[in-house]
Amino acid sequence: MTAVLGIAALSALNCDVAAQNDWTEPFPPFKIADNLYYVGSKGLANYLITTPKGHILINSDLEANVPLIRASVEKLGFKFSDIKILLISHAHWDHDAGSAMIKNLTGAKYMVMDADVSVVESGGKDDFQYGNVTENLYPATKVDRVLHDGDKVELGGAELVAHLTPGHTKGCTTWTMKVKEDGKTRDVVIVGSPNVNPGYKLVGNTLYPGIAEDYERMFRVLKSLRCDYFLGAHGSYFGMEDKYPRMKAGSPSPFIDPDGYREFVTVKEQAFQTELARQKGEVGKMDKPGSEQ
Ligand SMILES: [Zn+2]
Repeated sequence: MTAVLGIAALSALNCDVAAQNDWTEPFPPFKIADNLYYVGSKGLANYLITTPKGHILINSDLEANVPLIRASVEKLGFKFSDIKILLISHAHWDHDAGSAMIKNLTGAKYMVMDADVSVVESGGKDDFQYGNVTENLYPATKVDRVLHDGDKVELGGAELVAHLTPGHTKGCTTWTMKVKEDGKTRDVVIVGSPNVNPGYKLVGNTLYPGIAEDYERMFRVLKSLRCDYFLGAHGSYFGMEDKYPRMKAGSPSPFIDPDGYREFVTVKEQAFQTELARQKGEVGKMDKPGSEQ
């Protein structure tokens, strides 16, 4: 199917190859566990971590999503203006285009993984894949704190850990935290993205020479994380639409899904390895395999 698409159409494909038309479709906000809530749309995931000292929001989505996020936060009984910290899964427009707007509305501090900082501060122009695609650019947004692998983000007793899981973007971030419920402490993993997008060059990528090694590092990290609650940057990663109605039916929460997490990581790693082998094979078939791509 991709063979019939032109280069412009390919590069304009959405960040995670899901149905774009559900990105701005409202979804009911809900409590996942403890102080962790879902406040995203059907297609774009946002998480609110509430504390007595204000709240942490993960992802800003498209600018068109900001009113939806706000409505979800308020429907849960929290104040949008109490958001003190804004984080992202990775520097792609469907997760960070609304960041400038949210900073303006809330005064939140924007904290971004080091290797994604130049992308968000250039409004997407510094992205290795989509920097020249006008429709994927967005308002440049100043970062208030540069994060590094393993850094902690703390507020009012809540603690999130930033894991560098690069490849999909150079600073793609998987967030972990702990939640307490029924006297048990459980591990939450919010996956940044393991996807190889259409058009990504894994071999001979002059704008991202280490991309394949970074994907391999990312899969090592994902496999090393302890996961009870399996979440991610898009609800499609963890089957949100299937799990949500089951959650309402009773406990235990369907979002506690360590097996689903392991299976997801395995399937995505296989997809990466298949694409890497395909691209290496194409290079091998060229007359001058060592020539610049
Ligand atoms: Zn993406």
